[in-house]
Amino acid sequence: MLIILGYDGLEYDFVQKHDFKNLKQQSFGKTDLSDFSQPRTIVIWSSFMAGKNLEKEILAKPVMWASKLKPQDTFLKNFKSHFTIDVPGFSYIKEQHDLERKLLKGFFDKKNDVKAFDKCAFDHHKRIKQEFFKELESSKELVFGYFNLADLVGHLSFGLNAKMKIIYQELDDIAKQVQEKYSDSTILIISDHGMKAIGKFGDHSNHGFWSLNRKVDLGNPKPTDFASLISKNFKSV
Ligand SMILES: [Zn+2]
Repeated sequence: MLIILGYDGLEYDFVQKHDFKNLKQQSFGKTDLSDFSQPRTIVIWSSFMAGKNLEKEILAKPVMWASKLKPQDTFLKNFKSHFTIDVPGFSYIKEQHDLERKLLKGFFDKKNDVKAFDKCAFDHHKRIKQEFFKELESSKELVFGYFNLADLVGHLSFGLNAKMKIIYQELDDIAKQVQEKYSDSTILIISDHGMKAIGKFGDHSNHGFWSLNRKVDLGNPKPTDFASLISKNFKSV
């Protein structure tokens, strides 16, 4: 099985600074986002899945977030059985993320506090986590779980070190459980971009993160380099 843990907004420098070993796995590094004009979530995940830069096409759409790829236009076409959950530009759960945006706006408009925003993020995270682990039992060829906690909580709190450590610890724990239970599988951890602190808040940084549960030398790959590696189950490296 090939397992992808898609961690939106996972910051390389934060993982390094606090030495989250299960996030780093056997090999890890930064991804190179220089082909993109800005580190936009929907653009990078879509390009990652398609194996080509889709920035121009997605920016031309009237509603960027409504953009949706077909399986045959992604690396999924090379797998007999697959499952993805909540991946932007593919299996994205729009109602949930509309609610997140409403609460984010509500925070700045002083209509709700940060707690209501965090609760919404954590409740969704728990649901995704449960469904992801259930699906891992189903012996599909590829299981791709997308978790947006680091990005979402990061936007209002990336400057709060202790709080962000709790978030990263949770993502590290998921990786640990997957590694222990599915040690025969290839496990890729990937982020679209990282985060940088702006006071107590956070904004997208200009590099992503990748790691694999075996020794490989990928250097600083582009998000679009992974589709062919994934299709070959990383046997070519
Ligand atoms: Zn993102």
